Amino acid sequence: MPRIDPDRLLTDLRALRAIGAQGRGVVRPAFSATDMKARRWLKSRYEEAGLDATIDGVGNVIGRSRSPGKALLIGSHSDTQPTGGWLDGALGVIYGLEVVRALAADALTRALPVDAVSFQDEEARFVGCLGSRSLIGALTRGMEDGAADSRGTALADALREAGLAGVPRLRLDPDRYAGFVEPHIEQGPHLEDAGRRIGVVTGIVGLRGVRFVLRGQQNHAGTTMMARRRDAAAALYELAYRINQEFPTVAGPRSVWTMGRVRIEPNAASIVPGYAELDLQFRDPEDAPLEAFDDVVARLVKEMNARGGVAIEAIRARAPIRPSRMDPRLQSHIEAAAERHAPGLWQRMPSGAFHDAGIVSERLPSAMLFIPSIGGISHDFAEDSRDEDIVLGCQVIADAAASILAEANATR
Ligand SMILES: [Zn+2]
Repeated sequence: MPRIDPDRLLTDLRALRAIGAQGRGVVRPAFSATDMKARRWLKSRYEEAGLDATIDGVGNVIGRSRSPGKALLIGSHSDTQPTGGWLDGALGVIYGLEVVRALAADALTRALPVDAVSFQDEEARFVGCLGSRSLIGALTRGMEDGAADSRGTALADALREAGLAGVPRLRLDPDRYAGFVEPHIEQGPHLEDAGRRIGVVTGIVGLRGVRFVLRGQQNHAGTTMMARRRDAAAALYELAYRINQEFPTVAGPRSVWTMGRVRIEPNAASIVPGYAELDLQFRDPEDAPLEAFDDVVARLVKEMNARGGVAIEAIRARAPIRPSRMDPRLQSHIEAAAERHAPGLWQRMPSGAFHDAGIVSERLPSAMLFIPSIGGISHDFAEDSRDEDIVLGCQVIADAAASILAEANATR
């Protein structure tokens, strides 16, 4: 079996961390100068590892093996949240690179083709999983048109600024691949709490979002009698309360929902608000609860609109995500490798966070491996994992890659 080089792995992870480092964290949002610098660095690393490397028209970095036969695609994303941790995405990207090098250094695995990838904008500065959607051909004009970040920068301008306007976009050839493996930090507490060192992901939750736009009448908070008010914020509070009352009655055991953003206009203590927005997001590993939540939303909006006063519009988020199942065959290879290197210290688990593998699984058999996050903390500068777990996870993926590819190419 191939042996990864722990020092080389950790050195490259830290080198990537240094691009956009701020304190213990990393600031490398998609298409920023630091993000593009990291992508160019990665491209040169892929080339040094013997891959044909490209940065495509949406910023995906892909290194392709020159060996014939069914290939395995390994990677994740190297863009970060506006204030992100150093391992979210970066871990899987550097694992991909290290697995390529480890397999190439072993006579028994040298001929096995591994492609490495870093997808663009997984963290949704513009469109969540922009890069993987583009690669599988699921990025629609509708998603791109009008896409802008929270400061109002248009995606088209960011692409131009990054030098990617007119650069060809790569399209996945499903026939080339035996599958896709995305290693990632868990970003939650389950592995650490259970005393396990490896998670084999069974599926990824689906996600839907709704933006409610509430239009009433702005007015004076002292002179406007309650009965005459068309208070957009009061309607927002009622809507949010009723969602929290009704969602539990149709929820599944792993359903979660969040109302993480509101806007109230003009947002002043002495003015009856005339306009408000509320963002609702809900997630579940199954479709049925997501459908049920949509039905509740539609009914509440209809009921509240029937009263007159404040008019509520429910706008669907532009990029809903379907629940996805990870491929059982690929999972079994990762499980066997995990049992070999960490007997009894791995477990199967669903992913509550979304990942590029959820997109790629629409076209290719896909799998994910998790390593523990210290304290379950992620999307924060404090995000970290133990070096021993980082090294273990990569060795497991290297072994799994070798056995997946041996099987895929033996049965051709
Ligand atoms: Zn991530």
